[in-house]
Amino acid sequence: MSRVLVLGGTAEARALAVLLDDAGVPFLSSLAGRVSDPRLPVGEVRIGGYGGVAGLAAFLAEAGITAVVDATHPFAATMSAHAVAACSAAGVPLLRLARPGWSDHPDADSWHWVDTHEEAASRAANLAGGAGRVLLTTGRQTLSSYATLLGGRDVTVRVVEPPAEPLPHGWTVVRDRGPYTLDGETALLDGVAVLVTKDSGGSYTSPKLDAARTLGVAVVVVRRPPVLATASVDSPEEAVQWVLR
Ligand code: NAP
Repeated sequence: MSRVLVLGGTAEARALAVLLDDAGVPFLSSLAGRVSDPRLPVGEVRIGGYGGVAGLAAFLAEAGITAVVDATHPFAATMSAHAVAACSAAGVPLLRLARPGWSDHPDADSWHWVDTHEEAASRAANLAGGAGRVLLTTGRQTLSSYATLLGGRDVTVRVVEPPAEPLPHGWTVVRDRGPYTLDGETALLDGVAVLVTKDSGGSYTSPKLDAARTLGVAVVVVRRPPVLATASVDSPEEAVQWVLR
């Protein structure tokens, strides 16, 4: 049996699963298994890592995968790099599907763009001054990059899953998987001096950007890692057309 592997964990991957299902294309979605109660796509789902590039390449052959769509989050850089290497080794076509970033957002020019979380921590510390509150929305896996420079400061961390490691004294954890509304984000950002975010893109997590503008909160944005795949699209509709071709 030949089928498409969708590397998922995003709303775009779930939308693509619906489109592939509607088009009658055999496919399998894959999740990392990091979230305790994940939103599942329609169709068959496989949960857990492959054991690196060699494991993924072996899986592609064993499972009869004839095309891969990497629809993981724009910041899931390791999985995307593994997909490029494994598909190249196995001779399987690969498409990258990632929603557009926020660089075209009307407020983007007023944000502080940085390349790494360490740089974001430094910029946030400067912008917040001695006592300003910082809101981190960069994900629990990034928190160690902020602990040294922002430890002991007034920091709120908004995460989906609880952080694995103990956080510095003075940090507050807010657990919320969304959907995020303008009213909710405005309440969360009230009293915050600096918002730190990744350039995740899309509308699901963008209400915080509108709330930040209204409240005059400084915004630090971590740029995306580079796209390594040679073919890439930014919508599930384009991805299903690529699969059908
Ligand atoms: P990552 O750092 O790029 O990947 C680390 C490892 O997790 C990979 O080497 C792979 O393990 C496994 N993995 C990742 N995505 C997988 C998938 N879709 N199916 C099977 N195994 C997967 O990934 P991450 O940033 O931790 O993200 C993990 C998952 O959460 C991804 O599916 C991503 O789409 C989703 N997500 C991430 C973010 C984010 O900000 N990073 C936000 C929302 C959702 P092996 O090497 O063992 O194969």
